[in-house]
Amino acid sequence: MLATKIIQKFPFISNYFSLLLESNTKKFPQSIVFEGLDVYAQCFFALELARVLNCLEAGDENCQCLNCRWIREGKHPAVNFVSQLHFKEQNDDSKTVISVAQVKNIEKSLREKSDYHRFFIFFDAKQTPLDDAKRLLLNNYSPEGYDICPDENWTMGHLNQKTFSPLTLNILLKCVEEPPERTTFVFLTKNRSDLINTIVSRSQCFKLPVAVQKVDFAQINSFFENYPNITLQEAFLISENLQNYIKENEISADCVLDSILAYFLYKLKHAFDNQNYSKLQNDIKYVSEAKMHLASSILEKTVFDTLLLKFAGSVK
Ligand SMILES: [Zn+2]
Repeated sequence: MLATKIIQKFPFISNYFSLLLESNTKKFPQSIVFEGLDVYAQCFFALELARVLNCLEAGDENCQCLNCRWIREGKHPAVNFVSQLHFKEQNDDSKTVISVAQVKNIEKSLREKSDYHRFFIFFDAKQTPLDDAKRLLLNNYSPEGYDICPDENWTMGHLNQKTFSPLTLNILLKCVEEPPERTTFVFLTKNRSDLINTIVSRSQCFKLPVAVQKVDFAQINSFFENYPNITLQEAFLISENLQNYIKENEISADCVLDSILAYFLYKLKHAFDNQNYSKLQNDIKYVSEAKMHLASSILEKTVFDTLLLKFAGSVK
């Protein structure tokens, strides 16, 4: 079934889809709108749905059938990315929008019969190299074996008011209204209001919450009051506070690390002086390492103590 990483991050929605996939795939939605902060999480969720629906075996997470492999490698003929950079013919010179020509091609392809369950995954894309913050999010949500940004020269974003031209949307709406069977459109949005109502009303909408939402951001902020100047003594104190916070609120340590990551990414975005910038980049790397240590069953206390000592600059 769906990859463990996806199920762990989004247990509720994964459960809903797992039941649907097991019971009656004929009832699988023809159009899905994902809402939430993390576009990569949405993309991997959509790809996992496409993978299970097209798998030639039982849909297991590690399945190596042709369809599963193609989808992980981004090469499946029926599972399509549609953006300013994808599903575009060479002579199409519309660089900033999803063009009429692209949507007409989708319309045309739908008239042909297919042995597969077809997916069209819509998002906004820019031809800018993947920055550190985005790469971390990409790695954070990527299930085993996936390779969706191999050249790292483009960045995935949420659909916004400017991604489509109005004319494009009219043609697309017709496809969404009456798709052939075994066809699913997926729209990756921050908020459904970024997409026209006529498409939203014909879609099933799902919120993919990021783990961060479970943790009180102000709380994380208060733990890191003195950041970036954390003394050795403070390091142990903050580590203890974090561990208590985990116990008292019955949340996972991984979830708290995700929140620290999000907190630092936010700081990174708003860092104006360069000195902090490189420290933040290093510390973000340390949080990712801590997540890996946690996953390999190292004691929570050891993971947090080591992480905080790294923040304090006492351990490399
Ligand atoms: Zn398979």
